[in-house]
Amino acid sequence: MPVLRQIAQLGHPVLRENVRPVEDPSDPAVQALIDDMIATAADASGVGIAAPQVYLSLSLFIVASRPNPRYPEAPAMSPSAVINPEILWRSDDLVKGWEGCLSIPGLRGPVSRHRRIGVRYLDREGRLREEEHADFIARIFQHEFDHIQGVLFIDRVEDTRELATEKEYVRIVMGDQELGVRSK
Ligand code: ZN
Repeated sequence: MPVLRQIAQLGHPVLRENVRPVEDPSDPAVQALIDDMIATAADASGVGIAAPQVYLSLSLFIVASRPNPRYPEAPAMSPSAVINPEILWRSDDLVKGWEGCLSIPGLRGPVSRHRRIGVRYLDREGRLREEEHADFIARIFQHEFDHIQGVLFIDRVEDTRELATEKEYVRIVMGDQELGVRSK
């Protein structure tokens, strides 16, 4: 049974440390960690989670896009583990979009990301994969890839005056009309 892991919060040094590669994806401890991270992200309505967020300095993250209360428009996919990733190329076009982070509760900010990226990584079976991602999945990948470089989305917000609390984010995105329905 997967175990929900504690999520490191902004200010904890583990979020800023260098990671080391995963040596053996088939290691039962790595397999259990992947299951725990998938369960932890789902429990917290996250669409991704990186190993440093569960206090482990490893080059590993989960991409788990699905519609949930924090990201109602997220595309549905089965959660996948991304091990020892590289970003091979990035498209020139940037898209600005709202991000949040399980390690920075209650805060949202607009971040520019490359619309398309080419990536290479090992999956949880240890198979080398090369893929191209676009739009929201590319955004998640870039956000999580940042985590394994010790970078957080707030570092990439161009103007801190654009940061918003979760409550104000809902108002900005949904508009005043729906506020009565969406907010508590
Ligand atoms: Zn994050």
